[in-house]
Amino acid sequence: MDLILGNDLKKIDLILDEVKIRMVQFLEKLDTLPTHAQDQSIPTFPLPNTGLGSLGSLELFQEHFQKLIVGSAGPRYWGFVTGGTTPASIVGDWLTTVFDQNTQSLKGSGDISAEIELETIKLLLELLNLPPEFNGGFVTGATMSNFTGLAVARQWAGAQLGKDIARDGMTGDVVVLGGSAHSSVIKCLSMLGFGSSNLLNIRTITNREAIDVTALEETLNGLSGKSVILNCSAGTVNTVDFDDIQAIVKLREKHKFWLHIDAAFGGFATCANAYRHLLTGWEHADSITIDCHKWLNVPYDSAVILTRKEHKHLQIQCFQNSNAAYLGDSNDRFSYLNFLPENSRRFRALPVWFSLMAYGKAGFRSIVENSIHCAQTFGNLIEASGEFELMAPVRLNVVCFGLKGNKESTADFLYKLNARGSVFMTPTVLYGKQCIRAAFVNFRTSPQDIEIAMTELNQVYSQMFQN
Ligand SMILES: *Cc1c(COP(=O)(O)O)cnc(C)c1O
Repeated sequence: MDLILGNDLKKIDLILDEVKIRMVQFLEKLDTLPTHAQDQSIPTFPLPNTGLGSLGSLELFQEHFQKLIVGSAGPRYWGFVTGGTTPASIVGDWLTTVFDQNTQSLKGSGDISAEIELETIKLLLELLNLPPEFNGGFVTGATMSNFTGLAVARQWAGAQLGKDIARDGMTGDVVVLGGSAHSSVIKCLSMLGFGSSNLLNIRTITNREAIDVTALEETLNGLSGKSVILNCSAGTVNTVDFDDIQAIVKLREKHKFWLHIDAAFGGFATCANAYRHLLTGWEHADSITIDCHKWLNVPYDSAVILTRKEHKHLQIQCFQNSNAAYLGDSNDRFSYLNFLPENSRRFRALPVWFSLMAYGKAGFRSIVENSIHCAQTFGNLIEASGEFELMAPVRLNVVCFGLKGNKESTADFLYKLNARGSVFMTPTVLYGKQCIRAAFVNFRTSPQDIEIAMTELNQVYSQMFQN
């Protein structure tokens, strides 16, 4: 063994102690860490011949890179839909790395990680108030979850036409419908051979991002002979709008279609009693996308795809790896290897298992309710201010707003706000207008952070417009 590597192995106790001390310091400072790296140029180093060892690399990293790591896991990083990491999720993630299991197969393959993955899916279904009629597995994010769900949908759609698309390739008689589909769904249509320009957009309700169910019904009436997949949104990223799942499910009395629900973060609305109704009927979906690195507050990269158990054979047709004889027959025994896009995978379920056991239903109810409360508080302050205005009502946990006057300065305003490093938001376009988006999913965010953000907004505004 290389001398440096051998020494590292001997000193692992000391090395991990050192990492622990530094990471605790990092977490303690998370509140005050800049949310934006001013200078994003990093130094480069040649590949050493004789390595630096773990502690040497840690020193080098700390000196040159760590100061540029932003507080995106902190309480005032409101860009995109960015969750934090609860203590239990960090524990699970660290153990995942140490255990280094390859989570593919079930019993008989020498390890129990896939059994724990199934157990984690069971707990997650309980948290989400979903029945046990779903299979589930972990993928890297909601994009891959949408990909997997839509791949099984494609296989189902082919089967309606007597075709095996996974084996024989795409057929032209499959139609994908959506209202305000997330950008990742479009990306999936490209990856799956539908073509990114082939989403048939259904009209949405005026001033809403939710599908107009009458328009959907009209479209379905005109699609006889086609095999139809419907992508529903349960929580759009701009206004957190929900398609009327109950009404859409009712359409299935007359029309046959695959119902995929992209509930990446919106699915967690079910944890809050006052918002559970937004998901009424979602238990009838064929496939559901759930992101874990957003509202579940586990580290990247973690998401789940849920598919009805009755579609298991379609999913295996899509993802079977059974051309490799040494891996066994895919229909013989359930294995994630034949069920999800990836073959070798890290033990991704463990951070979620730890989180669910550590905080339970009450813990996640409080996380979700706190985020919604923060969004509403921030929304109310924006609405009451003289300088800013809401661009959409605050439906759940995202605030879309803009400048009341000087609208052409929105992008410049956001740039200046973010550059101060105290709060981070991202731009968006809503109904053709430039807006600023603040998304609340981090369990650390408190009313005090809302105050800090309002002060920041007002200071940037007066610097820009009042002198
Ligand atoms: C975030 C998000 C996605 C994509 O998720 P990734 O985790 O970034 O892959 C898809 N759909 C919705 C509704 C989202 O909010």
